[in-house]
Formats: sequence, C-alpha cells, structure tokens
Amino acid sequence: MQATTTPASGGFDNLNLIGPIRRAVREEKYSLPTPIQIQAIPHLLEGRDLLGCAQTGTGKTAAFALPILQRLAENKKTAKPKSMRALVLTPTRELAVQISDSFRTYGRYLKINHAVVYGGVKYNAQIRALSRGLDIVVATPGRLLDLFEQGHLRMSDIDVMVLDEADRMLDMGFLPDIRKIFSAIPEERQTMLFSATLPEEIVKIATRFLRDPVRVTVSPPASTVDKIDQRVLFVDRENKYELLESVLQDESLYRVLIFARTKHGSNRIVQKLSKIKVRAVALHGNKSQAARLDALKKFRDGKVRVLVATDIASRGLDVEGITHVINYELPNEPESYVHRIGRTARAGTKGIAISFCDAGERGFLRDIERVIKRTVPVNVDHAFHSPAVAASNKRPSGDGKNGKKRWSDRKGKTGQRSGGSKFSANRGKRAPGKSGENKAGVPRRFSRSR
Ligand code: AMP
Repeated sequence: MQATTTPASGGFDNLNLIGPIRRAVREEKYSLPTPIQIQAIPHLLEGRDLLGCAQTGTGKTAAFALPILQRLAENKKTAKPKSMRALVLTPTRELAVQISDSFRTYGRYLKINHAVVYGGVKYNAQIRALSRGLDIVVATPGRLLDLFEQGHLRMSDIDVMVLDEADRMLDMGFLPDIRKIFSAIPEERQTMLFSATLPEEIVKIATRFLRDPVRVTVSPPASTVDKIDQRVLFVDRENKYELLESVLQDESLYRVLIFARTKHGSNRIVQKLSKIKVRAVALHGNKSQAARLDALKKFRDGKVRVLVATDIASRGLDVEGITHVINYELPNEPESYVHRIGRTARAGTKGIAISFCDAGERGFLRDIERVIKRTVPVNVDHAFHSPAVAASNKRPSGDGKNGKKRWSDRKGKTGQRSGGSKFSANRGKRAPGKSGENKAGVPRRFSRSR
C-alpha cells in the first residue's frame, strides 16, 4: 500500500474541483480544505482506491463526498431503474441521514440525485426512490440487503463504493453483510474506506476490498483531537448519578452528550434528570426511528440541553456546539472512547470530555490510555472522588496534588459553585457557534442550516 507524502497546499481552488462544487463549498464558508481533504481528494479524483484515517470531526465526509460528486457529474450516465452509481455504507441510520444531507449541500449546483436507505422505517418511500435509479445511495447495510434480496435494487452498476467508519463496518457485527454486498458489486470500481480509528487487524481485512490503495493517515491512528480537554473522575459506582447531577450544575456544560452503556440506563438517566428540571432526551436502539430522529433534532436545535445515548451516537454524528461529552460509563472498546469524545471539538472548536470511572472500569481506562497513547488527567476535586478507585488505578488518591487539573472553586458535597467554571472549555472566550451568543457568552442556537 502506498502512503502519501505530498499534500497539495493552498485552498479549494488548487484541488481541481469543478466550479459548481467549489461554489457550494464556498457557500459553506470552508475557506481552506482540511488535511484529510488536501491529502485524499487529489488521489480520489484520479480514481485511486483509498484507505483514509483522520481524527474525528476533521472533514472526512467532504473528503469522499466532493470527489464522488465530481466523478458522477463528469461522467454523465443516467442510473438504470433500481440501480445506483455510488454507494456509501454507514453503521447507523443517523449517520446515513447526515451524510446524505452533506451530499445535498455539496451537490446543490449539480444534477445528482441521491437517497438514504435505512431500517426502522417503512419500505415504500425507499422502494419508490430506488425504482427510478439513483446516482448516490447512502445506506445502512441491513436494510440495503433486505431490499436487495427482495429484488428492489440492483448493485451491478455501482462504480464507487465507500465504507464510512470502516473499522466498525468491518468488525464481526457487520462483516457478514459487508461481504455479501461486496460480492454483489462489480470488481471494476473505486473503493474508499474512512475512519478515525483503524486497528491493524481491521486494516488487514480492509485491504481485501481495495485495489492498490493509497493510504492516507493525517494523524496517528486513534489520536484524540488536541482540542479536547480530557479528564477522568474516579467515583464509586453507587455515587455516579449524584456526581452527574453535581457536574451538570455547572451551566458552562451547555450542550452535553452523555454516553451510557445500556438503553435502559440511558432512559433512567433521562428520567432522573427530568426530575431536577434538566431538559434531556435519550437516543438508543429501542426507540422508534421517528423518536431517534426527533431526539437528535431537539438536541441539534437546542431544545434540550442533554442527549443521553448509547454507542449508536458515538460515531460520525456532527452536532454543532457540543461543549461536553460525559462518559457516564466507560466503553469496553477503547476505539469507542475516541469516537465518543470526538462528538465535541469539531471543525476546529474546543470541547471537554469528562469520564466517570468506577472500580469495575479500571481495565477499560487502561485500554483507552493505551490506544490514545496518553494518560487522561484526573480531576480529584469533586465531592464524589473515590480515593480507593484512584489508588487502584495508581493515580493520585485524593490529596488534590495531581498537578494536572485542579479546580479548587468547587465546594460542598453537591458541588455548588463558588466562582468560575471548572468544566468550561472556553472560559472567558467566545463559546463555539455561528449564530449569536447571549450575555453569558454561550450560543443562542447551534442548529445547522440544512
Ligand atoms: P466531518 O468530519 O466530515 O463530520 O466534518 C466535521 C465538520 O467540519 C462538519 O461540520 C463540516 O461541515 C465541517 N467541515 C468539513 N470540511 C471543512 C472545511 N474544509 N472547512 C471548515 N469546515 C469544514
């Protein structure tokens, strides 16, 4: 596999993109391409296969969407009924919708049609859209295969294939479906695989689906974005919820994504938070698709302050202005940590990731630190700090001298604030967001203009 060494420099004008795409990008106010875009787009425009790895929130979607749009626009073929010319596979429905929205945005000055295909909703609209033939389909694998096996779509005309969140798509859960899909598409095609994390064993599997690929890695695999301020809080299991309440008393936690391990656990947190008047919604796989999309919309639109989710929200979701990610429970897969915290500090903004760690999660923390190749600083300065858990992690046991992070303005058992904010990423600075701020310096609304 060839690795790239020569990034093009300059703006989008140097990337050989056609006028209608440059215009759409300009209107999105993207002044410069991101490193993954600089490195991937020229190879993709040449038709090369590519394995791309870049940190979360650094513009991977445009890195594949722009060259795909260009390839399809330059080769003016009409898709046959039930066929598609490009297929993008993603692990979650929400991500499929988001990517489809990006194709709409970037392709708005082109005559390219696209549709999104995912489970949990009725078949009719998707079957109707497919029957005409489409330039681009963004799909989750299960529903795509379902429709394929029912004869509602053909994959024999696919010219470009993308696996987004490639390591998830090639893990044991999805791999059987992915194999079936690859066996149904033409050998002669362009294939692109993208992710923020690519364990070596997955790279080995990935190369089977690629032909003489270019490998683009713009930062070490699994590195966490430097702009994310990471902290771990040691706590006894039975005190976790109280710790969450006390952390949320800090209003600088303005738009908060909380990850819980289970669907039931997410619901329980939402119910408890609603009792203390914290506006929260849950997002997990037991909800109907309409409820899932509604929860995400409320969170995007700022109607709720907190979204409590399982790992279905960990990958790819791009919600502007998430100030904090809280790992109420640590994930047992270290890569999930990288993706979860990557929901904040997107597109050059700052963010804070707070992880609660109890005695049973020490091993998870160790695995995470091994994968991210750094030690997550400990915050001992909270009312529920557990010296026992800290000591068993070989970390400061509560003398407040860990040196790295010490927030001495928090007092009392419930963590009432006596002054500034310990959990604020942008203390004294403007909070992220494009659309105005209130007096406290926090954005009034963060909704994306889609
Ligand atoms: P992604 O990693 O594709 O989810 O993108 C993360 C965020 O970066 C999205 O909100 C994009 O709209 C934004 N973005 C992508 N490319 C650029 C760029 N070249 N300049 C500024 N923002 C960008």
